[in-house]
Amino acid sequence: MDPREIRDLTGIDILPRHRPAMVYQCIRCSRTEPLEELLYTCPACHSLLRVVDPEFDALSERTGAEWRRVFDLRRATQVDGFRGIFAFHELVLPWVPLEDVVYLGEGHTPLVRANPDLARWVGAPLWVKNDGQNPSASFKDRGMASAISFLNHYLNTRGGGPILGICASTGDTSAAAALYLSYLDRDAVRSAVLLPRGRVTPQQLGQPLGSGARVIEVPGVFDDCMRLVEELAASYEVFLLNSKNPVRINGQKSFAFEVAQQLGWDVDGLTVVVPIGNAGNVTAILEGFLDLQRLGVIGGLPRILGVQSDHADPVARWQRSGQYRPVTVRPSVAQAAMIGNPVSFPKVQGLVDAVYRERFACVSVTEQEILDTMLVANRHGHVVCTQGGEAIAGLRKALGEGLVDPAGRFVCDSTSHQLKFAGFQDAYFEDALDPAYGITPRADLANRPVQLPADAGAIAEHLGLARRSR
Ligand SMILES: *Cc1c(COP(=O)(O)O)cnc(C)c1O
Ligand SMILES: [Zn+2]
Repeated sequence: MDPREIRDLTGIDILPRHRPAMVYQCIRCSRTEPLEELLYTCPACHSLLRVVDPEFDALSERTGAEWRRVFDLRRATQVDGFRGIFAFHELVLPWVPLEDVVYLGEGHTPLVRANPDLARWVGAPLWVKNDGQNPSASFKDRGMASAISFLNHYLNTRGGGPILGICASTGDTSAAAALYLSYLDRDAVRSAVLLPRGRVTPQQLGQPLGSGARVIEVPGVFDDCMRLVEELAASYEVFLLNSKNPVRINGQKSFAFEVAQQLGWDVDGLTVVVPIGNAGNVTAILEGFLDLQRLGVIGGLPRILGVQSDHADPVARWQRSGQYRPVTVRPSVAQAAMIGNPVSFPKVQGLVDAVYRERFACVSVTEQEILDTMLVANRHGHVVCTQGGEAIAGLRKALGEGLVDPAGRFVCDSTSHQLKFAGFQDAYFEDALDPAYGITPRADLANRPVQLPADAGAIAEHLGLARRSR
Protein backbone atom coordinates (compact mmCIF):
# COMPACT_ATOMS: atom_id res chain seq x y z
CA MET A 1 0.00 0.00 0.00
CA ASP A 2 1.19 3.52 -0.56
CA PRO A 3 0.88 6.15 2.17
CA ARG A 4 -2.08 7.81 0.41
CA GLU A 5 -4.07 4.58 0.37
CA ILE A 6 -3.27 4.06 4.04
CA ARG A 7 -4.50 7.57 4.83
CA ASP A 8 -7.73 7.00 2.89
CA LEU A 9 -8.35 3.71 4.68
CA THR A 10 -7.35 4.63 8.21
CA GLY A 11 -7.31 8.44 8.37
CA ILE A 12 -3.67 8.24 9.50
CA ASP A 13 -0.88 10.05 7.67
CA ILE A 14 2.29 7.99 8.04
CA LEU A 15 4.54 10.47 6.22
CA PRO A 16 6.95 12.53 8.33
CA ARG A 17 5.50 15.91 9.28
CA HIS A 18 8.69 17.76 9.94
CA ARG A 19 12.41 17.63 9.34
CA PRO A 20 14.06 18.83 12.56
CA ALA A 21 17.43 20.56 12.74
CA MET A 22 19.04 17.83 14.83
CA VAL A 23 22.08 18.52 16.97
CA TYR A 24 24.92 16.79 18.74
CA GLN A 25 24.68 17.34 22.47
CA CYS A 26 27.53 16.75 24.91
CA ILE A 27 26.55 14.35 27.71
CA ARG A 28 28.68 16.33 30.18
CA CYS A 29 28.53 20.08 29.44
CA SER A 30 25.34 19.98 27.29
CA ARG A 31 26.95 22.09 24.55
CA THR A 32 25.24 21.55 21.20
CA GLU A 33 26.61 21.54 17.66
CA PRO A 34 24.70 21.22 14.38
CA LEU A 35 24.43 17.70 12.99
CA GLU A 36 25.78 18.88 9.62
CA GLU A 37 29.34 18.42 10.94
CA LEU A 38 31.24 15.17 11.42
CA LEU A 39 31.80 15.13 15.18
CA TYR A 40 32.54 12.34 17.65
CA THR A 41 33.38 14.14 20.89
CA CYS A 42 32.53 17.51 22.43
CA PRO A 43 34.78 20.27 21.04
CA ALA A 44 34.73 21.94 24.48
CA CYS A 45 35.22 19.13 27.01
CA HIS A 46 35.94 16.03 24.84
CA SER A 47 33.09 14.01 26.39
CA LEU A 48 30.76 11.75 24.43
CA LEU A 49 27.97 13.17 22.28
CA ARG A 50 24.35 12.22 21.78
CA VAL A 51 22.29 13.04 18.70
CA VAL A 52 19.09 14.77 19.76
CA ASP A 53 16.03 16.27 18.12
CA PRO A 54 15.45 19.64 19.85
CA GLU A 55 11.86 19.53 18.59
CA PHE A 56 11.16 16.10 20.12
CA ASP A 57 8.35 17.47 22.30
CA ALA A 58 6.49 18.57 19.18
CA LEU A 59 5.98 14.86 18.45
CA SER A 60 3.50 14.80 21.34
CA GLU A 61 0.92 16.35 19.04
CA ARG A 62 0.19 12.70 18.39
CA THR A 63 -0.82 10.44 21.27
CA GLY A 64 1.10 7.28 22.11
CA ALA A 65 -1.72 5.23 20.60
CA GLU A 66 -1.46 7.18 17.34
CA TRP A 67 2.31 6.66 17.18
CA ARG A 68 1.84 2.93 17.72
CA ARG A 69 -0.46 2.84 14.70
CA VAL A 70 1.90 4.97 12.58
CA PHE A 71 4.81 2.60 13.32
CA ASP A 72 2.65 -0.48 12.68
CA LEU A 73 1.21 0.90 9.43
CA ARG A 74 4.61 1.85 8.03
CA ARG A 75 5.39 -1.86 7.91
CA ALA A 76 2.60 -2.24 5.35
CA THR A 77 4.18 0.15 2.84
CA GLN A 78 6.85 -0.36 0.19
CA VAL A 79 8.39 3.07 0.78
CA ASP A 80 12.18 2.48 0.86
CA GLY A 81 12.74 5.20 3.43
CA PHE A 82 10.45 3.38 5.92
CA ARG A 83 12.07 -0.01 5.63
CA GLY A 84 13.87 -1.75 8.48
CA ILE A 85 14.95 0.54 11.29
CA PHE A 86 13.57 3.58 9.45
CA ALA A 87 9.97 2.57 10.16
CA PHE A 88 10.78 4.52 13.34
CA HIS A 89 11.86 7.53 11.28
CA GLU A 90 11.18 10.22 13.92
CA LEU A 91 13.12 8.29 16.58
CA VAL A 92 16.10 7.24 14.48
CA LEU A 93 17.32 10.09 12.27
CA PRO A 94 14.54 12.40 11.03
CA TRP A 95 17.22 14.76 9.71
CA VAL A 96 17.83 12.34 6.82
CA PRO A 97 15.09 12.61 4.18
CA LEU A 98 13.43 9.35 3.08
CA GLU A 99 15.17 9.36 -0.32
CA ASP A 100 18.68 9.32 1.24
CA VAL A 101 18.05 6.29 3.45
CA VAL A 102 20.40 3.37 2.74
CA TYR A 103 18.55 0.11 3.41
CA LEU A 104 20.34 -3.22 3.01
CA GLY A 105 17.81 -5.43 4.78
CA GLU A 106 18.65 -4.64 8.41
CA GLY A 107 16.20 -4.68 11.29
CA HIS A 108 12.84 -6.43 11.74
CA THR A 109 14.69 -9.46 13.12
CA PRO A 110 12.61 -12.33 14.49
CA LEU A 111 11.57 -12.57 18.13
CA VAL A 112 11.49 -16.30 18.76
CA ARG A 113 9.74 -17.94 21.71
CA ALA A 114 12.23 -20.22 23.44
CA ASN A 115 11.78 -23.95 23.25
CA PRO A 116 9.99 -25.08 26.47
CA ASP A 117 12.80 -27.44 27.54
CA LEU A 118 15.32 -24.66 27.12
CA ALA A 119 13.06 -22.32 29.11
CA ARG A 120 12.87 -24.88 31.95
CA TRP A 121 16.65 -25.24 31.93
CA VAL A 122 17.07 -21.44 32.05
CA GLY A 123 14.41 -21.08 34.76
CA ALA A 124 11.72 -18.96 33.06
CA PRO A 125 9.97 -18.56 29.70
CA LEU A 126 11.97 -16.33 27.38
CA TRP A 127 12.23 -15.06 23.85
CA VAL A 128 15.39 -14.87 21.79
CA LYS A 129 15.71 -11.96 19.38
CA ASN A 130 17.81 -13.19 16.47
CA ASP A 131 19.88 -10.16 15.57
CA GLY A 132 22.26 -12.45 13.70
CA GLN A 133 19.65 -12.37 10.93
CA ASN A 134 20.83 -8.94 9.85
CA PRO A 135 22.67 -8.54 6.51
CA SER A 136 26.22 -8.84 7.88
CA ALA A 137 24.91 -11.22 10.55
CA SER A 138 25.06 -8.98 13.63
CA PHE A 139 23.11 -6.16 15.28
CA LYS A 140 25.86 -3.74 14.23
CA ASP A 141 23.99 -3.31 10.92
CA ARG A 142 21.32 -1.29 12.73
CA GLY A 143 23.77 1.46 13.65
CA MET A 144 25.63 1.16 10.38
CA ALA A 145 22.40 1.76 8.43
CA SER A 146 21.82 5.03 10.28
CA ALA A 147 25.47 6.14 10.07
CA ILE A 148 25.75 5.37 6.36
CA SER A 149 22.38 6.98 5.60
CA PHE A 150 23.71 10.04 7.42
CA LEU A 151 26.92 9.94 5.36
CA ASN A 152 24.94 9.45 2.16
CA HIS A 153 22.84 12.53 2.91
CA TYR A 154 25.94 14.47 3.94
CA LEU A 155 27.68 13.64 0.65
CA ASN A 156 24.55 14.28 -1.43
CA THR A 157 24.16 17.77 0.02
CA ARG A 158 27.83 18.70 0.38
CA GLY A 159 29.57 16.85 -2.41
CA GLY A 160 33.33 16.71 -1.99
CA GLY A 161 35.20 13.64 -0.92
CA PRO A 162 36.51 11.10 -1.22
CA ILE A 163 36.04 10.38 2.45
CA LEU A 164 37.47 7.39 4.31
CA GLY A 165 35.12 5.46 6.60
CA ILE A 166 37.14 3.77 9.33
CA CYS A 167 36.57 1.73 12.48
CA ALA A 168 38.27 -0.43 15.08
CA SER A 169 36.50 -3.68 15.63
CA THR A 170 36.17 -6.95 17.51
CA GLY A 171 34.97 -8.28 14.13
CA ASP A 172 31.35 -7.35 13.60
CA THR A 173 31.59 -3.56 13.37
CA SER A 174 34.16 -3.90 10.59
CA ALA A 175 32.01 -6.44 8.74
CA ALA A 176 29.03 -4.08 8.91
CA ALA A 177 31.02 -0.91 8.10
CA ALA A 178 32.72 -2.50 5.09
CA LEU A 179 29.40 -3.84 3.78
CA TYR A 180 27.49 -0.54 4.03
CA LEU A 181 30.39 1.59 2.78
CA SER A 182 30.80 -0.68 -0.24
CA TYR A 183 27.20 0.13 -1.23
CA LEU A 184 28.00 3.83 -1.64
CA ASP A 185 29.70 5.42 -4.63
CA ARG A 186 33.36 4.29 -4.74
CA ASP A 187 34.54 7.71 -5.92
CA ALA A 188 33.04 9.37 -2.85
CA VAL A 189 33.77 6.77 -0.18
CA ARG A 190 36.61 4.40 0.74
CA SER A 191 36.76 2.06 3.67
CA ALA A 192 39.36 0.78 6.09
CA VAL A 193 39.12 -1.34 9.23
CA LEU A 194 41.55 -1.91 12.11
CA LEU A 195 41.49 -5.35 13.70
CA PRO A 196 43.39 -6.91 16.62
CA ARG A 197 45.54 -9.59 14.97
CA GLY A 198 44.28 -13.11 15.74
CA ARG A 199 41.32 -11.82 17.77
CA VAL A 200 38.57 -11.98 15.17
CA THR A 201 37.15 -15.18 13.72
CA PRO A 202 38.03 -16.25 10.14
CA GLN A 203 34.44 -15.47 9.08
CA GLN A 204 34.66 -11.96 10.53
CA LEU A 205 38.00 -11.38 8.80
CA GLY A 206 36.59 -12.60 5.50
CA GLN A 207 33.66 -10.19 5.59
CA PRO A 208 35.49 -6.83 5.21
CA LEU A 209 37.97 -8.45 2.81
CA GLY A 210 35.04 -9.56 0.66
CA SER A 211 33.51 -6.08 0.74
CA GLY A 212 36.76 -4.61 -0.57
CA ALA A 213 37.81 -2.69 2.53
CA ARG A 214 41.45 -2.09 3.36
CA VAL A 215 41.98 -4.41 6.30
CA ILE A 216 44.74 -3.52 8.73
CA GLU A 217 45.70 -5.97 11.47
CA VAL A 218 47.67 -4.66 14.44
CA PRO A 219 49.05 -6.39 17.52
CA GLY A 220 47.08 -6.09 20.76
CA VAL A 221 43.39 -6.26 21.67
CA PHE A 222 40.38 -4.17 20.65
CA ASP A 223 41.14 -1.43 23.19
CA ASP A 224 44.49 -0.84 21.41
CA CYS A 225 42.79 -0.58 18.00
CA MET A 226 40.25 1.85 19.44
CA ARG A 227 43.01 4.14 20.71
CA LEU A 228 44.60 4.21 17.23
CA VAL A 229 41.34 4.99 15.50
CA GLU A 230 40.59 7.78 17.95
CA GLU A 231 44.00 9.26 17.22
CA LEU A 232 43.29 9.08 13.48
CA ALA A 233 39.83 10.66 13.89
CA ALA A 234 41.29 13.48 15.98
CA SER A 235 43.94 14.48 13.43
CA TYR A 236 42.80 13.35 9.99
CA GLU A 237 39.77 13.69 7.70
CA VAL A 238 37.95 10.42 8.33
CA PHE A 239 34.41 9.28 9.09
CA LEU A 240 34.60 7.31 12.35
CA LEU A 241 32.25 4.34 12.38
CA ASN A 242 32.67 3.09 15.94
CA SER A 243 29.76 3.43 18.35
CA LYS A 244 31.47 6.54 19.67
CA ASN A 245 29.84 8.03 16.57
CA PRO A 246 26.48 8.90 18.16
CA VAL A 247 24.62 8.56 14.85
CA ARG A 248 25.18 4.82 15.14
CA ILE A 249 23.59 4.69 18.58
CA ASN A 250 20.41 6.23 17.15
CA GLY A 251 20.08 3.38 14.66
CA GLN A 252 20.75 0.78 17.34
CA LYS A 253 17.83 2.09 19.38
CA SER A 254 15.63 0.30 16.85
CA PHE A 255 16.29 -2.95 18.75
CA ALA A 256 14.25 -1.55 21.67
CA PHE A 257 11.53 -0.22 19.35
CA GLU A 258 11.15 -3.60 17.67
CA VAL A 259 11.04 -5.54 20.94
CA ALA A 260 8.19 -3.29 22.13
CA GLN A 261 6.38 -3.55 18.80
CA GLN A 262 6.80 -7.33 18.60
CA LEU A 263 5.31 -7.65 22.09
CA GLY A 264 2.26 -5.63 21.02
CA TRP A 265 3.69 -2.47 22.68
CA ASP A 266 3.30 -4.11 26.09
CA VAL A 267 6.55 -4.15 28.08
CA ASP A 268 4.96 -4.79 31.46
CA GLY A 269 7.17 -7.04 33.59
CA LEU A 270 9.73 -7.24 30.79
CA THR A 271 13.48 -7.70 31.25
CA VAL A 272 15.73 -7.30 28.20
CA VAL A 273 19.02 -9.19 28.50
CA VAL A 274 22.02 -7.79 26.62
CA PRO A 275 25.68 -8.82 26.38
CA ILE A 276 27.91 -5.79 27.03
CA GLY A 277 31.21 -5.10 25.29
CA ASN A 278 31.88 -1.49 24.31
CA ALA A 279 28.45 -0.65 25.81
CA GLY A 280 27.06 0.97 22.64
CA ASN A 281 24.27 -1.57 22.27
CA VAL A 282 23.07 -1.35 25.87
CA THR A 283 23.21 2.46 25.70
CA ALA A 284 21.02 2.43 22.61
CA ILE A 285 18.53 0.04 24.22
CA LEU A 286 18.32 2.14 27.40
CA GLU A 287 17.77 5.30 25.31
CA GLY A 288 15.34 3.59 22.93
CA PHE A 289 12.89 2.52 25.62
CA LEU A 290 13.17 5.99 27.14
CA ASP A 291 12.17 7.57 23.81
CA LEU A 292 9.14 5.28 23.61
CA GLN A 293 8.12 6.23 27.12
CA ARG A 294 8.49 9.95 26.41
CA LEU A 295 6.21 9.53 23.39
CA GLY A 296 3.65 7.62 25.45
CA VAL A 297 4.10 4.59 23.21
CA ILE A 298 4.85 2.40 26.25
CA GLY A 299 3.70 2.96 29.84
CA GLY A 300 6.69 2.14 32.02
CA LEU A 301 10.29 1.19 31.32
CA PRO A 302 11.40 -2.44 31.15
CA ARG A 303 14.31 -3.72 33.22
CA ILE A 304 17.66 -4.13 31.46
CA LEU A 305 20.04 -6.92 32.48
CA GLY A 306 23.58 -6.58 31.14
CA VAL A 307 25.83 -9.62 30.97
CA GLN A 308 29.62 -9.87 30.73
CA SER A 309 32.20 -12.63 30.80
CA ASP A 310 34.20 -12.65 34.02
CA HIS A 311 37.23 -12.33 31.69
CA ALA A 312 36.08 -8.83 30.62
CA ASP A 313 33.63 -7.44 33.14
CA PRO A 314 34.20 -3.77 34.03
CA VAL A 315 30.46 -2.99 34.02
CA ALA A 316 29.54 -5.97 36.22
CA ARG A 317 32.29 -4.97 38.65
CA TRP A 318 30.96 -1.42 38.71
CA GLN A 319 27.53 -2.83 39.61
CA ARG A 320 28.97 -4.94 42.43
CA SER A 321 31.32 -2.36 43.92
CA GLY A 322 29.95 1.05 42.86
CA GLN A 323 33.44 1.79 41.48
CA TYR A 324 34.24 1.92 37.78
CA ARG A 325 37.71 0.80 36.76
CA PRO A 326 38.88 -0.44 33.34
CA VAL A 327 40.02 -4.07 33.47
CA THR A 328 42.73 -5.92 31.56
CA VAL A 329 40.83 -8.49 29.55
CA ARG A 330 41.60 -12.18 29.40
CA PRO A 331 40.66 -14.28 26.34
CA SER A 332 36.92 -14.79 25.99
CA VAL A 333 34.84 -16.90 23.64
CA ALA A 334 32.39 -13.97 23.72
CA GLN A 335 35.13 -12.29 21.75
CA ALA A 336 32.93 -9.59 20.23
CA ALA A 337 32.33 -8.30 23.76
CA MET A 338 35.90 -8.74 25.03
CA ILE A 339 36.52 -5.11 26.00
CA GLY A 340 38.15 -3.84 29.17
CA ASN A 341 37.30 -0.13 28.95
CA PRO A 342 33.93 0.36 27.20
CA VAL A 343 33.83 3.66 25.31
CA SER A 344 30.13 4.23 26.04
CA PHE A 345 30.33 3.48 29.76
CA PRO A 346 29.77 7.16 30.75
CA LYS A 347 26.47 7.08 28.85
CA VAL A 348 25.36 3.92 30.65
CA GLN A 349 26.32 5.40 33.99
CA GLY A 350 24.40 8.61 33.24
CA LEU A 351 21.25 6.77 32.15
CA VAL A 352 21.33 4.37 35.09
CA ASP A 353 21.94 7.10 37.67
CA ALA A 354 19.33 9.48 36.24
CA VAL A 355 16.58 7.14 35.10
CA TYR A 356 16.93 3.38 35.26
CA ARG A 357 18.44 3.00 38.74
CA GLU A 358 17.30 -0.37 40.11
CA ARG A 359 15.80 -1.21 36.72
CA PHE A 360 19.37 -1.88 35.53
CA ALA A 361 21.59 -4.72 36.64
CA CYS A 362 24.71 -6.38 35.25
CA VAL A 363 26.04 -9.83 36.04
CA SER A 364 29.13 -11.71 34.96
CA VAL A 365 29.25 -15.35 33.90
CA THR A 366 32.09 -17.82 33.35
CA GLU A 367 33.50 -18.82 29.99
CA GLN A 368 32.24 -22.34 30.69
CA GLU A 369 28.69 -21.05 31.22
CA ILE A 370 28.84 -18.99 28.02
CA LEU A 371 29.84 -21.81 25.70
CA ASP A 372 27.74 -24.52 27.39
CA THR A 373 24.69 -22.25 27.19
CA MET A 374 25.27 -21.44 23.53
CA LEU A 375 25.46 -25.14 22.69
CA VAL A 376 22.38 -26.01 24.78
CA ALA A 377 20.38 -23.22 23.09
CA ASN A 378 21.50 -24.30 19.63
CA ARG A 379 20.43 -27.86 20.44
CA HIS A 380 16.92 -26.55 21.11
CA GLY A 381 16.21 -24.92 17.78
CA HIS A 382 17.82 -21.55 18.38
CA VAL A 383 20.49 -19.69 16.42
CA VAL A 384 22.68 -18.28 19.14
CA CYS A 385 26.28 -17.02 19.00
CA THR A 386 28.72 -16.97 21.93
CA GLN A 387 27.45 -13.52 22.96
CA GLY A 388 23.85 -14.74 22.75
CA GLY A 389 24.95 -17.68 24.91
CA GLU A 390 26.42 -15.13 27.30
CA ALA A 391 23.06 -13.31 27.50
CA ILE A 392 21.08 -16.50 28.18
CA ALA A 393 23.68 -17.69 30.70
CA GLY A 394 23.36 -14.33 32.46
CA LEU A 395 19.58 -14.66 32.64
CA ARG A 396 19.93 -18.18 34.03
CA LYS A 397 22.35 -16.92 36.63
CA ALA A 398 20.18 -13.92 37.58
CA LEU A 399 17.16 -16.22 37.96
CA GLY A 400 19.21 -18.65 40.05
CA GLU A 401 20.36 -15.86 42.34
CA GLY A 402 16.87 -14.36 42.68
CA LEU A 403 18.02 -11.14 41.02
CA VAL A 404 15.05 -11.22 38.63
CA ASP A 405 11.52 -12.50 39.15
CA PRO A 406 10.79 -15.72 37.19
CA ALA A 407 7.18 -14.54 36.84
CA GLY A 408 8.42 -11.79 34.51
CA ARG A 409 8.96 -11.87 30.76
CA PHE A 410 12.40 -12.03 29.20
CA VAL A 411 13.96 -11.18 25.85
CA CYS A 412 17.58 -12.21 25.26
CA ASP A 413 19.57 -10.46 22.54
CA SER A 414 21.39 -12.97 20.35
CA THR A 415 23.63 -10.31 18.87
CA SER A 416 25.13 -12.19 15.94
CA HIS A 417 24.87 -15.37 13.92
CA GLN A 418 26.19 -18.62 15.37
CA LEU A 419 28.13 -19.33 12.14
CA LYS A 420 30.49 -16.41 12.79
CA PHE A 421 31.74 -18.25 15.87
CA ALA A 422 31.69 -21.81 14.53
CA GLY A 423 35.39 -22.19 15.38
CA PHE A 424 34.62 -22.12 19.11
CA GLN A 425 32.10 -24.90 18.64
CA ASP A 426 34.68 -26.95 16.68
CA ALA A 427 37.33 -26.42 19.34
CA TYR A 428 34.87 -27.41 22.10
CA PHE A 429 33.84 -30.58 20.27
CA GLU A 430 37.48 -31.50 19.65
CA ASP A 431 38.59 -30.52 23.16
CA ALA A 432 41.08 -28.16 21.53
CA LEU A 433 40.15 -24.89 23.24
CA ASP A 434 43.01 -22.67 24.39
CA PRO A 435 43.43 -23.36 28.14
CA ALA A 436 43.26 -19.58 28.71
CA TYR A 437 39.46 -19.80 28.39
CA GLY A 438 39.28 -22.28 31.28
CA ILE A 439 36.59 -24.39 29.62
CA THR A 440 36.22 -28.16 30.06
CA PRO A 441 34.00 -29.55 27.28
CA ARG A 442 30.97 -31.54 28.44
CA ALA A 443 30.97 -34.93 26.73
CA ASP A 444 27.17 -34.89 26.36
CA LEU A 445 27.32 -31.70 24.28
CA ALA A 446 30.10 -32.80 21.93
CA ASN A 447 29.19 -33.91 18.43
CA ARG A 448 31.38 -35.20 15.61
CA PRO A 449 30.86 -36.61 12.13
CA VAL A 450 31.45 -40.34 11.67
CA GLN A 451 32.92 -41.90 8.54
CA LEU A 452 30.91 -44.77 7.04
CA PRO A 453 30.94 -46.57 3.70
CA ALA A 454 28.29 -45.53 1.12
CA ASP A 455 26.12 -48.42 2.16
CA ALA A 456 22.50 -48.21 3.44
CA GLY A 457 22.87 -51.32 5.60
CA ALA A 458 25.95 -49.99 7.37
CA ILE A 459 24.27 -46.59 7.92
CA ALA A 460 21.09 -48.25 9.27
CA GLU A 461 23.15 -50.38 11.61
CA HIS A 462 25.06 -47.34 12.85
CA LEU A 463 21.77 -45.49 13.47
CA GLY A 464 20.23 -48.51 15.19
CA LEU A 465 17.25 -48.55 12.82
CA ALA A 466 14.62 -51.30 13.12
CA ARG A 467 13.74 -53.08 9.89
CA ARG A 468 10.17 -52.55 8.50
CA SER A 469 8.06 -55.61 9.21
CA ARG A 470 6.72 -55.74 5.65
C1 LIG B 1 29.68 -5.64 19.24
C2 LIG B 1 29.09 -6.88 19.74
C3 LIG B 1 28.69 -7.03 21.08
C4 LIG B 1 28.92 -5.98 22.11
O1 LIG B 1 28.14 -4.84 21.87
P1 LIG B 1 28.63 -3.42 22.41
O2 LIG B 1 27.77 -2.44 21.75
O3 LIG B 1 30.06 -3.31 22.03
O4 LIG B 1 28.46 -3.49 23.89
C5 LIG B 1 28.07 -8.20 21.45
N1 LIG B 1 27.87 -9.20 20.57
C6 LIG B 1 28.26 -9.09 19.29
C7 LIG B 1 28.01 -10.24 18.37
C8 LIG B 1 28.87 -7.94 18.83
O5 LIG B 1 29.26 -7.86 17.56
ZN1 LIG C 1 31.19 19.03 26.56
